[in-house]
Amino acid sequence: MTKLNNNLKQSVLKLTTPLSAVTIVLAIATLLVGNVKAQDNGKFKLMTLPYSTDALEPVISKKTIELHHSKHLNGYVNNLNRLIVGTKFENADLETIVKKSKGAIFNNAGQILNHNLYFTQFTSQSEGRPNGKLLKAIENTWGSFENFQKEFEKAGATVFGSGWVWLAADKKGNLKITQEANGSNPITKGLKPILGIDVWEHAYYLDYQNRRAEHLKEVWKII
Ligand code: MN
Repeated sequence: MTKLNNNLKQSVLKLTTPLSAVTIVLAIATLLVGNVKAQDNGKFKLMTLPYSTDALEPVISKKTIELHHSKHLNGYVNNLNRLIVGTKFENADLETIVKKSKGAIFNNAGQILNHNLYFTQFTSQSEGRPNGKLLKAIENTWGSFENFQKEFEKAGATVFGSGWVWLAADKKGNLKITQEANGSNPITKGLKPILGIDVWEHAYYLDYQNRRAEHLKEVWKII
């Protein structure tokens, strides 16, 4: 959670009035989503990893990160760039495409949004848990951070087939855990994504094989 906490500190510094936990959480989510913009030429680009491909070992191996980023995510980017040509989405930003499209365009745009958030949230210097306002908001909702972890892991383990588990906030700032199928994202439900774990097999199978629940337990060490 170091990254989330750093973003939180930066947000707080820019603001002069006291903020509720809810507003802080939304500010973090906006910062994360803000990393995802259409390129100037209207084409989407593969995001750059903010760490080396072996930085998350042993929780996620170098091989998994390499394939996940340079093959899977790169494939979604290339697909979307090809699919939007000549459509009303040609000049739209990623969030708009995810909110308004269907079918192949939605699947690929959703996966780009998901992975841009996913790869950005990891760090090799995790403190193991958030602190400050985010921790308070989680404790207010689930009683304790440990209880939230348990519920989040359970939701991730029970996504049927390929999909995602998210911590997200509604417009009032209430925190929720959501399960999303395939390439969907909480923004399709009017929620702001805060933390998302990919439970497609390509995200963990080389390192954990069928043991998705074990991967979900380990992943806290790099958030
Ligand atoms: Mn993935």
